[in-house]
Amino acid sequence: MTSDNSLPVTSRRWRNWGGNHQAVAADVLTPRTVDEVAASVKEAATAGHRIKVVGSGHSFTGIALADDRRMLLHRLAEPVSVVGDLVTVQAGMPLYRVNALLAEHGLALPSLGDIDRQTIAGAIATGTHGSARDHSTLASLVAGLTLVTGTGEVLHLGPAAELFPAARLGLGALGIVTEVTLRCVPAFVLLADERPLPLAEVLAGLDEQLAANEHLEFFWYPYTDHAQVKLNNRVAASDRPLSRFRAWMDDDFLSNTMLEVVCRLGRRIPASVPAISAISARALTARAYTDRSDRVFCTSRRVRFVEMEYEIPRAALPEVMAALPGIIAALPFRVQFPVEVRFTAPDDVWLSHGYGRESAYVAVHQYATSPHEPYFRAFEALCEPLGGRPHWGKLHYRDADSLRPAYPRFDAFLAARNTLDPHRLFTNTYLDRVLGP
Ligand SMILES: Cc1cc2nc3c(=O)[nH]c(=O)nc-3n(C[C@H](O)[C@H](O)[C@H](O)COP(=O)(O)OP(=O)(O)OC[C@H]3O[C@@H](n4cnc5c(N)ncnc54)[C@H](O)[C@@H]3O)c2cc1C
Repeated sequence: MTSDNSLPVTSRRWRNWGGNHQAVAADVLTPRTVDEVAASVKEAATAGHRIKVVGSGHSFTGIALADDRRMLLHRLAEPVSVVGDLVTVQAGMPLYRVNALLAEHGLALPSLGDIDRQTIAGAIATGTHGSARDHSTLASLVAGLTLVTGTGEVLHLGPAAELFPAARLGLGALGIVTEVTLRCVPAFVLLADERPLPLAEVLAGLDEQLAANEHLEFFWYPYTDHAQVKLNNRVAASDRPLSRFRAWMDDDFLSNTMLEVVCRLGRRIPASVPAISAISARALTARAYTDRSDRVFCTSRRVRFVEMEYEIPRAALPEVMAALPGIIAALPFRVQFPVEVRFTAPDDVWLSHGYGRESAYVAVHQYATSPHEPYFRAFEALCEPLGGRPHWGKLHYRDADSLRPAYPRFDAFLAARNTLDPHRLFTNTYLDRVLGP
């Protein structure tokens, strides 16, 4: 199990990657077998305790906070099975290991998010996604899973199971996932084509570009009209590798080391932020390179930030992008991070942000130690009336009453929770808020 946090993973003290949530668990459980997981659940149910299984702690919300017993799955045996395009892995396996394993078998996941440090169970539990014309959340790639319920029963759920559309993206509220089967695709190479463009040009050509490209995302630099567009498309072979120096310069030095320096400067001298943003936007250059798909999708993020991300119906994107500069200009502080915009296809997973519609995702970030709440609240006030659905693992202020209308199968999910976790063994403060007690 990996954690980029400095605390040892088995410490009773815990904090998330963003550093905005901390907890001290009453106990830390590290089962070695599924039977031990089930036995721990039964014992906790009898003794009136709660258990929260935690992945890599990369959620910005309190979804992974364990104030009673915390469970880690890194000691669980790791059988791997590969049957055609179906690959079964231990649920606590980090994505970077899943990706390496798939590559060994000539397979890959068709779409991934920005990083690969999350566990597969944590990623599917919160609706983690990338940007893809033809794909949705990672949860939509789940073809089966093994779940230990709140009564200690071990269930193997596949597409035919009634509760499968709930369990694929369960927020950690339905049980402990011990194994996940993923529907993969043959390994592929991507041509990454990144270029700076005026924001107005990006928005004007969006429909056409979304149809023409498999993976499109863009970053808008606040206080400017500049954007950086990233297009990733399949090619037959990796014949344009990025030079080591360029990879280090762009993805390590500029995206991490320099960003940290710039964020610290912006925090000390807030008035400098718009000028820094303009310089950063003007410094953007075009680049094109090829590499294995997961190496193109995932980058390293060392600068700590906090984030809110809203899924909105794709047609609402122009309204959101038009309102954002006004929101940012009215804030009593400066925004130091670009706004990230991604797109996904619809899926049928009950609590997926992409349930039943073409989605645009707009993410706002702020340096971890800088103020963010007025920014995030204003952004949420913009997105909520548009039918927006907040990312389950990223900051938001919604509760069950306000989320119900956004998800057509919300009550069906609550019924599944009553069936699978009748005594609320897996709940915590965040789940009580977003699902009700
Ligand atoms: C730098 C950074 C970049 C990110 N990039 C993206 C991105 O590109 N796209 C995106 O959509 N999100 C992104 N995220 C958010 C991240 O993918 C999610 O928050 C994800 O849930 C984190 O996985 P984790 O393993 O850290 O899970 P945790 O945060 O530890 O846990 C999340 C939830 O999963 C549950 N859980 C974990 N393991 C199990 C299990 N075995 N059984 C049942 N429940 C379980 C926990 O109980 C909790 O409810 C990013 C986060 C960071 C910090």
